[in-house]
Amino acid sequence: MKAIRVHQFGGPEVLKLEEVPTPKPDAGQLLVHVRAAGVNPYDTYMRAGTYAIKPQLPYTPGSDAAGTVEAIGTGVTKVKPGDRVYTARTLTGAYAEYTLALEEQVHPLPENISFEQGAGVWVPYCTAYQALHHFAKARASETVLVHGASGGVGTASVQMARAMGLTVFGTAGTDKGLDLAKREGARQAFNHAKPGYQEEIMKASGGRGVDVILEMLANVNLGGDLKMLALHGRVVVIGSRGDVTITPRDLMSRRASVRAFTLWAAQPAEMAEIHAALFAGMENGTLRPVVGKKLHLAEAARAHKEVLEPGAAGKIVLIP
Ligand code: NAP
Repeated sequence: MKAIRVHQFGGPEVLKLEEVPTPKPDAGQLLVHVRAAGVNPYDTYMRAGTYAIKPQLPYTPGSDAAGTVEAIGTGVTKVKPGDRVYTARTLTGAYAEYTLALEEQVHPLPENISFEQGAGVWVPYCTAYQALHHFAKARASETVLVHGASGGVGTASVQMARAMGLTVFGTAGTDKGLDLAKREGARQAFNHAKPGYQEEIMKASGGRGVDVILEMLANVNLGGDLKMLALHGRVVVIGSRGDVTITPRDLMSRRASVRAFTLWAAQPAEMAEIHAALFAGMENGTLRPVVGKKLHLAEAARAHKEVLEPGAAGKIVLIP
């Protein structure tokens, strides 16, 4: 089979398309025929060798694949060959024609969700769910600012928060991203590249501030976020690429808090809850992963460059 292989940590150019043996499922494992693989920013940090998790070299990147079950190992009962699935991590990497996964790493993909959309489920939607439900503990009637609403996690968060009954504000850096945020459920969208947009958000909140902020770039925004919070407001840090200075008194006067998490630490019980909720949301049309760009598997290096560039519009997916 064809797969992207990384033999040394480095820039996007270390992603090489190679011919490798197709893996065979052992007991408790299954082989997925990958129809699309999602590209996440963390894939690039891992490839660069700067991430908390360093895979053993050589490796195939990617945790988010969607496709059909090709073969199952002994003892696998959850799925059968031919079933449509998405993965939440794999054993051998998603950027490939086939990927090996543990039975608990695959989840059913509803018929109304395409494989390309299915490649944008695990990381974006589990993150959105954890942020809104487990960390912000957001409630209907509250106001949420999705700070970075045009990307994978942002579009997922906007759809989910809207369905939960929150008033959603979103930010993006381009007109295309602003339109996307509004189309997916944001009541108003603001350009985070435009000086003074925080005042516009305060105005839109009637001057009281927002109850929840989901933050995709904390190193740039956290200090300003604290000034946009309502009393008892919560910032959930989802993404950050450096250090930041904050004024703790902004938190004190608002009795506010900052929480943060990584998806990696989610426990099995939380994951079971999340996947059940995601299946229901996809099946009933509430959750609709947005595919912004489809590239061939061979263009993985281009995908890794573009996923970090401004101008996000949903997910970038690789098609083997
Ligand atoms: P993505 O699809 O590449 O989207 C990136 C988003 O960040 C876009 O909406 C982009 O908007 C926005 N952005 C750029 N500059 C910004 C600014 N100054 N202020 C606010 N937003 C800005 O990435 P993603 O998959 O949504 O992930 C977003 C971040 O969360 C990444 O840093 C990722 O590593 C992290 N993440 C963390 C976890 C976790 O477990 N904690 C899980 C998933 C993702 P424009 O392009 O329109 O400017």
